[in-house]
Amino acid sequence: MAQARMPAVFIGHGSPMNTFAQNKYTQAWQQFGRTAPRPKAILAISAHWFLPGTAVTSMLKPKTIHDFGNFPQALFDFQYPAPGSPALAKRVSELLAPLAVRADEEWGLDHGTWSVLTHVYPQAEIPVVQLSIDSMQPPSFHYDLGERLAPLRDEGILIVGLGNIVHNLRMLNWKDEAPAHDWAVRFSDTVRGHILQREHEPLVDYPKLGADGKLAIPTPEHYLPLLYVLGAQQPGESAGVLVDGIQNASISMLSVVVGNSGS
Ligand code: ZN
Repeated sequence: MAQARMPAVFIGHGSPMNTFAQNKYTQAWQQFGRTAPRPKAILAISAHWFLPGTAVTSMLKPKTIHDFGNFPQALFDFQYPAPGSPALAKRVSELLAPLAVRADEEWGLDHGTWSVLTHVYPQAEIPVVQLSIDSMQPPSFHYDLGERLAPLRDEGILIVGLGNIVHNLRMLNWKDEAPAHDWAVRFSDTVRGHILQREHEPLVDYPKLGADGKLAIPTPEHYLPLLYVLGAQQPGESAGVLVDGIQNASISMLSVVVGNSGS
C-alpha cells in the first residue's frame, strides 16, 4: 500500500522550560503536529544522547529522563509516557548495517526529545525511538546515517532532529527575549541560507564556517542532529523554515522541515 512520504524535521529545542511555555516556538511545534501527516512512529535524534557508539532505544516503555539540574521541581516531575517501538529499533539497525547499532534498554526519552514532543504530540500516543549520536565520528558520518535512514520516511516514520544550530551556554543571557549576539544572528542566517539553497556540503564541513561558527558550535552535539535531517532530504525536495529566532542571546531556535509538512 502506498504510504505518503513523511517530512523530516529539525527542531531547535532551547531551554527545557519550553516544555511549559506558550511562545512563538512552541506554537509552531504545535502547529506542525496538527498539520503534518500523522506518523506511525517517531525516530528522534537528540543532542542529549551523545556518546561513543550508535545505539537505539529498544524498550517497550521508555522512561522520561530528567537530564539537567537547577530547574523547577515541575520539570523533574514531568512525564512523557510515549511507548517505544522495538520494531522500529530493529528496522533502524537493519538500515544502518553493517554499522553495529547497540540495542539499548537503559536510556529512554531525554528532555531534548520530550520538551518538544509534548507540544507536537501532546497525547504521547505515538511510539518514539531515540538514536544516539556517536561522539567519536566526524560530521560526514552523521549526514551519511541520515541518508541511510531516509527510507523510513516512506514507511510512515517521522525523523526528528532535536538540537540548536547556535548553542553557546557561556554567552547565554537568562532573559528569553534578550537581544541576540551579532555573531549568533549572522551564523544562523548563514546556515539557514545554505539549508534553503540545499547547499549541504558547507553545512557538513561546518568547522570551516569561520569564527562565528566557533562561537555558535563550541561543542557539536546540538548541531549534529541537523545533519541527520538534511541527509534524509530527497532529490527534488525543498526545505522550509518552521520557525526562527534567537532565545537567551545565544541559542538559535531555527527549525526546518524537509518535504511535505502539510501546512
Ligand atoms: Zn539541549
